[in-house]
Amino acid sequence: MQEGGDDHMRTGAEHIRSLKDGRTVYIDGELVADVTEHPAFRNAVLAAAELYDFQAQPDNVELMTFQPDGSNRRVNRGWQMPRNYEELVQRRKALQAWAALSCGFCGRSPDHLASSLVGQRMGIEVFRKHGAARAKAVEDFFDYARHNDLYVSYVIINPQAERGKDWGQQAEDLVARIVDEDSTGITIRGAKMLGTGAVMANELLVANMQPLKPGEEDIAFSCALPMNAKGLRVLSRKSYEAHAVSVFDNPLSSRFDENDALMYFDDVKVPWDRVFVHRDTDMCRAQFHDTPSHVYQNYQAQIRLTVKLTFLAGLARRVTEAIGTTRIPSVTEQLGTLAAQVGMVNSMLSGMEASGVQVGEWFVPNKHYMYAAQVITQELYPRFVQSVRDLAGGALIMLPSSAADFGNAEVDAIIRKTQRSATMAPEQKVKVLKAAWDAIGSEFGSRHTQYEMFYAGARFVTTGHSFRTFNWDAATGLVDTLLSSYSLKGALDELRK
Ligand SMILES: Cc1cc2nc3c(=O)[nH]c(=O)nc-3n(C[C@H](O)[C@H](O)[C@H](O)COP(=O)(O)OP(=O)(O)OC[C@H]3O[C@@H](n4cnc5c(N)ncnc54)[C@H](O)[C@@H]3O)c2cc1C
Repeated sequence: MQEGGDDHMRTGAEHIRSLKDGRTVYIDGELVADVTEHPAFRNAVLAAAELYDFQAQPDNVELMTFQPDGSNRRVNRGWQMPRNYEELVQRRKALQAWAALSCGFCGRSPDHLASSLVGQRMGIEVFRKHGAARAKAVEDFFDYARHNDLYVSYVIINPQAERGKDWGQQAEDLVARIVDEDSTGITIRGAKMLGTGAVMANELLVANMQPLKPGEEDIAFSCALPMNAKGLRVLSRKSYEAHAVSVFDNPLSSRFDENDALMYFDDVKVPWDRVFVHRDTDMCRAQFHDTPSHVYQNYQAQIRLTVKLTFLAGLARRVTEAIGTTRIPSVTEQLGTLAAQVGMVNSMLSGMEASGVQVGEWFVPNKHYMYAAQVITQELYPRFVQSVRDLAGGALIMLPSSAADFGNAEVDAIIRKTQRSATMAPEQKVKVLKAAWDAIGSEFGSRHTQYEMFYAGARFVTTGHSFRTFNWDAATGLVDTLLSSYSLKGALDELRK
């Protein structure tokens, strides 16, 4: 909730305080007393808090924030609902500035869900058709989350188990479902994957993205819950932050391990004013796909990715400088290819903005271009990482075991003789190479490859979106025009002449 007057901007300290709310988070078999202090999460929490402090700095306020109509306070531009191309680009610049603070490594920073919810709010008519009370719940939650500039996370995917069976036929208590309802709300039980950033978020959107069939109404719901909701159990994956040696050794994983967690709903009661979709299998799809929600949330992901790939290209360049290979023609060629790939991803982003469409009052990025970018980048990311590995060779491994080696005079002397470089001091060379390993080779780096390959859905899902949104009439029309410009009869007549 808002602290210190109703018109001030959210601060990092306020965000940290908001997480001391008695949420139930487990890691390594233990219940976490306070995520803001626990070694598994505290630096990621600080990185999230820094987002709010950054935007509140006087020099950044205009770039990063806006004042919604009818509101008395400025909030992140992620909550802005662009009415035209200029506003879309203005909003994007704010999102890129936030992404730059983690070099693009925080995939589900608060602007991700703000983008998803902006899209749902733009498409409120879809919810109105589903029911006036459900639409009001969406509007009220949007207003509440936006006014307080909250960090919202989401779980919209069911845990993998038996893909041969429908979601409704999975073992009891696996897929989150409505197990009860009364005049005050619904009760849900079961699990959802995979709440990235949930441990440091304020609210959780729970929905179902995967196709459902009639008869699966128990799992056809969406709602929002505070992260300290009674019965919500958060089961964290391994913390890379906790295993980071130091900022010098692991500059990314020590600070930007945004965490992923399984959410288990142990008979969680959701009041009706937080229920957005109720027992409607098609509405589970429509809330994302008949509104601009899916486009906006994944457009945000592409914005962030431009920053991450730019960073990785910069890292590749520094690695080659560290080992003295930059000017070898084949290495220059490889760096040029990485630069071209960054250029391509930036161009796709500009393209989806420039070819955006007016949907009623709102301006929405080009849907097919966004899906095209998604298909291309989920395949590009592992190749990009592979190229950086290829450029680096054994340098990523021939490194001091930790910063502590520099503290031993004998070892330090050897490091300074063996970590030589034509362009940088040994200490700097080690710094560059450790940052590179953290980004692409560490367990944290490896999780990022999995993330970029899957956050938007497996390949058959993303290519399906691309297939459905492509203008096949235009494509086949060109073919048909060609085919209709000649005939077999014409060819035979020509032969008989
Ligand atoms: C790091 C990370 C963070 C994530 N964060 C979030 C989050 O914050 N919120 C959230 O809701 N979700 C999150 N997810 C989940 C993510 O959305 C899913 O992983 C993604 O949608 C793919 O679904 P799945 O994992 O069930 O894979 P599946 O759909 O099971 O696919 C796995 C593989 O199985 C095969 N396969 C399965 N079904 C088919 C089929 N019908 N046809 C062909 N091949 C098939 C394919 O080879 C596919 O690549 C995250 C995932 C990762 C890895």
